[in-house]
Amino acid sequence: MTDVLNLSKPETPPMKFRYLPILALALAGCSQPDKTAAGPDARFDAFKGQFIEALWKQNPDYASGMGYHKYDSLLLIPNAAQRQADDAFAQNSLTALGRFTPDSLSPNNQIDLRLLRNELRAERWYADTLKTWQWNPASYNLGAAVGELLNGRHFRLDRRLRNISDKISHAAEFYAAARANISTPTKEHTALGIRQNEGGLEVFGPALADSVRKSGLSAAEKQTLTARIAAARQAIEGYVSFLRRNMPAGVPYRSFRIGKALFEQKFAYDIQSRFTAAEIYQQALKHKAELLHDMGHRAARLYPKYFPGQKAPADSLALITAVINQLTLKHAPRDGFADAVKRQIPTLVAFVNEHKLLTQDPSKPLVVRETPLYMRGSGAGASVSAPGPYDKGANTYYNVEPLPAEWTPAQAESYLREYNDYTLQILNIHEAIPGHYTQLVYANRSPSLVKSIFGNGAMVEGWAVYSERMMLESGYGNNSDEMWLMWDKWNMRSTLNAVIDHAIQAENMSETDVVALLRREGFQEEAEARGKWLRATLSQVQLSSYFTGYSEIYALRQELKQQKGKGFNLKEFNEKFLSYGSAPVKYIRELMLRPNQADR
Ligand code: ZN
Ligand code: ZN
Repeated sequence: MTDVLNLSKPETPPMKFRYLPILALALAGCSQPDKTAAGPDARFDAFKGQFIEALWKQNPDYASGMGYHKYDSLLLIPNAAQRQADDAFAQNSLTALGRFTPDSLSPNNQIDLRLLRNELRAERWYADTLKTWQWNPASYNLGAAVGELLNGRHFRLDRRLRNISDKISHAAEFYAAARANISTPTKEHTALGIRQNEGGLEVFGPALADSVRKSGLSAAEKQTLTARIAAARQAIEGYVSFLRRNMPAGVPYRSFRIGKALFEQKFAYDIQSRFTAAEIYQQALKHKAELLHDMGHRAARLYPKYFPGQKAPADSLALITAVINQLTLKHAPRDGFADAVKRQIPTLVAFVNEHKLLTQDPSKPLVVRETPLYMRGSGAGASVSAPGPYDKGANTYYNVEPLPAEWTPAQAESYLREYNDYTLQILNIHEAIPGHYTQLVYANRSPSLVKSIFGNGAMVEGWAVYSERMMLESGYGNNSDEMWLMWDKWNMRSTLNAVIDHAIQAENMSETDVVALLRREGFQEEAEARGKWLRATLSQVQLSSYFTGYSEIYALRQELKQQKGKGFNLKEFNEKFLSYGSAPVKYIRELMLRPNQADR
């Protein structure tokens, strides 16, 4: 998903659950059928199974979110004892991992081993060094967890309510531990914690009471649950007023900026790039200049076509702005937006086939639908919904949201111009074919529960961005200046995301300077730029993932092109790259650059 379109991704995930449930798909049993039962791969597969089972017990909310419901009724109290238990779990698991030699494993398992090692080290670093649990009050939100259980469809209502009843019976302890943990919060995360916990209160409102009334629970169970709901409300309200008391001026807040050293480390754990954060920052600045240069040339060529007989502005940024504003006038009608998206999917499928970009699987068609009502309203024009790793065989949907009926004509026009005829095609490539959806189909051919859970977000986003450029380079859009100019602008957004992420967190860049940069060189509207600033104050590193993944994939392709010369084949590259699943690009690179990298 692009950053604007994937609003289902939490801005600041609870501290232990940093990984978005990445577009994970159904799994079919064991991965390497040709291995002997006692071989290293078989032993490692067995280890992974046990590890994940134990991981879920250690992280019940995370498990529920991934569709594993055995521990739905558990609530962990985020206190020192729990942190010690987490630490011991990570240590023991790392020791167990140390008994495997990477070289003795299949490529698939080698990557899994490294992903697990990174994840466990990251867990410890988050708890011991970054210490989000001390400064991010939004880490604690019982409403969010209960809301997921209540709206889940895995169990029938009565069972869900019993799980909720058990879980919230410890609400007071939960929030007491949260209060004890908070020492020097940031102002921004305190405001977020207040907002989200107030939102969480609504979960314990009339709709829940109504469900309890209608349920098949006994009178005694209903009474207990009703009392527990009241107590949970009280605990949340207490937490919110505790956070409010910390808000008045004079209370020492820590800065939301984590600084160079922590940013560098977090980047290493979260992105797993072969470059450092500082190197990626430099690459993003360079790429920004290249994009602007390209945009200047294309806008100069297009100007006479769209403004015949007029004198072009001397300032290059003004020239680019004028042409972009003209191009965005071509857009779908208000009531035809969803149709316009739907119509493009078969065109993309055909283009990929005709140009032999990769093999598609006609037995797994993407189901295009209008976004279900319960998912609407986030402003997400289009998104991919993939079932979690435990929902075998469910459909993958491409959700397209019609414009909200209540939007004013001005709001609708602004949105339609943002997703004009050119950008809409790029969006469909990114989200669907051959972007996220196609990547997902390939990832599921080498099923790995580890990659479904801890898959690499930079690779997933990077592939989607890479696929846009790859399509355009292959002639999609007839190589027109219009299409490329709008792609440049689109690509500038992920490039600037990486620039400002580093500049804000590690270089102290101010809000005024950030907004000015996004508006001037990113050609963004004021509202988009302010929204981006807010997001960059609440998260760190995530905004860098799109650009990092994209540039690493593109560089790898160029490297192989050079190495193989005439023997290079784009289809072969794309398919081979995708065959490793949602793994960090640096590991895929190592495997693809091996002199004799025939699969074992
Ligand atoms: Zn994306
Ligand atoms: Zn219009």
